[in-house]
Amino acid sequence: MFELTEEQLLVQDTARRFAEEDIAPTLEEEERKQEFRADRVVRMGELGFFACALPDELGGNGMGFLESVLMAEQIARVSASWRVQFNMQNLGPPLTVARFGNAGQKEKYIPGWISGEKLGFFAMTEPNSGSDVASMKTVAVDKGDHWEIHGSKLWISNAQVGDAGLLYAYTDRDAKHKGISAFIIEPKNLEGCTTKSIDTKLGLHCSPTGEFVFDGAKIPKEALLGEEGEGFKICMWQLNNTRINCAAGALGVAGGALDLSINYANERTQFGKPISRHQMIQAQIADMAVEHEAAKLLVYRAAWLKDQNRPNQYETSIAKLAASEAAVHAANECMKIFGSYGFSTEYPAERFYRDAKSLQIVEGTSNVQKIIISGIACGFTANR
Ligand SMILES: Cc1cc2nc3c(=O)[nH]c(=O)nc-3n(C[C@H](O)[C@H](O)[C@H](O)COP(=O)(O)OP(=O)(O)OC[C@H]3O[C@@H](n4cnc5c(N)ncnc54)[C@H](O)[C@@H]3O)c2cc1C
Repeated sequence: MFELTEEQLLVQDTARRFAEEDIAPTLEEEERKQEFRADRVVRMGELGFFACALPDELGGNGMGFLESVLMAEQIARVSASWRVQFNMQNLGPPLTVARFGNAGQKEKYIPGWISGEKLGFFAMTEPNSGSDVASMKTVAVDKGDHWEIHGSKLWISNAQVGDAGLLYAYTDRDAKHKGISAFIIEPKNLEGCTTKSIDTKLGLHCSPTGEFVFDGAKIPKEALLGEEGEGFKICMWQLNNTRINCAAGALGVAGGALDLSINYANERTQFGKPISRHQMIQAQIADMAVEHEAAKLLVYRAAWLKDQNRPNQYETSIAKLAASEAAVHAANECMKIFGSYGFSTEYPAERFYRDAKSLQIVEGTSNVQKIIISGIACGFTANR
C-alpha cells in the first residue's frame, strides 16, 4: 500500500483543513487557558470524524481504521490534544460497545458518541494501577437489583466532562483478571460519584484529564457490558484499537515538528547562510525525516491490517512504539533547531515536546509495547 485512494486523500485533506482553519487560529489562547471546546467535538462529529470502523446500521460512515488514522494524524500535526477525541468518540467506547454491547446499549449510546454530543471516556487506570491493569482495586458489588461501585480512577481523559463511558472494575476478586467486568456508566448526576480535573499536566492542555471517586455509586444491572468477568478481555481488545489512534497522533506530532523545523531552518540565518545549509542541521532533519517516514508506513500498515480483520496486535504495538519515540525525538530536535526560541512558550516547538511525551505513556507505555512485541516475537503469545 504505497498510495492512498482519492477518497482517502479527500478525507485527509478535510481533516487538514479543519485543523488549520478551526483549531490552529485559537489554539495558543486555548492552550494557555487549558480550555476544552465541547462545541468543537460536535463539529468534528458533524464532519464524520467519529464514525469510522463501525457497521452502517450503527451509524458507520463506510470508512475504516486507515481513514481514522489519516484524520487523527492531520489533527495532531496541529494539536495533539485534539486527536484524543478520536478515541473518546470513536475507537474507544463506540467500537467497544458495537463489539460487546447488546442491542439496547448500542442504540442508547453509540449515536451520541459519534455525533460528538455525548462525551465518552474509558477508565481503567487507578492511583496504584497503571500498566498492570489487573492490579486495579475498584469493585462493582452485585446488590441484586443494581451494582454498587467503590474505588477510584485516575488519569482518565474526559473524566470531568464525560457523559457516558466505560468503567472497568472487579466483580470477583478471587478470579484474578477473569474477575474484571466492564460497565457503561453515566457519571453526571450519579450519586456517590465525584470527578475532579487534573490541572497539573505538562501538556495536552486542550484535552481534559481527571479522576473519578466512587463511594457506593449505584448503577443499574443493565450497565454491564458483555458478560460478567469479560472485562479484562474487553479492555485489552479496546486498547489494541485505541492504541492505533495514539500511534496516528504520534505520527502527526513527528510530521508537525519536522515541518516546523524545516521552515525555521530555511529562514534562520547564522554564519551568513540559512541554518539548513549547515551539515549538522541537515543530519538532524534527515534523521527526523527517516523516522517519520518509517513510522508512517508502520502506522498505516497496522490500520490496514485492522481493516482486513487480520491479526495486528504485533504490528499495532510496533507502530505505536516507533511513532511515539519518533514524535519525542522529532520534537526534541525541533526545540534544538529553534535555539532559544525553542525554549520559549511563544513558539510551538516546546508544546510539541510536552505533548509528545504523553504518547510514550498512554495506551501502554513504551516498555509495555516492548513486552507485547517481544512476547509475540518469541512465541509466548499469539498475534491477535
Ligand atoms: C494524558 C494522559 C491521559 C490518559 N488517559 C487515560 C484514559 O483515558 N484512561 C485510562 O484508563 N488511563 C489513562 N491514562 C493513564 C495511562 O494509561 C497510564 O498512565 C499508563 O498506562 C501507565 O501507567 P502508570 O502511569 O501507572 O505507570 P506504571 O505502570 O506505574 O509504570 C511506571 C514505569 O514502569 C514501567 N513498567 C511498568 N511495568 C513494567 C514491566 N513489567 N516491565 C518494564 N517496565 C515496566 C513503565 O513503562 C513506566 O516507565 C492517561 C495518562 C495520561 C498521562
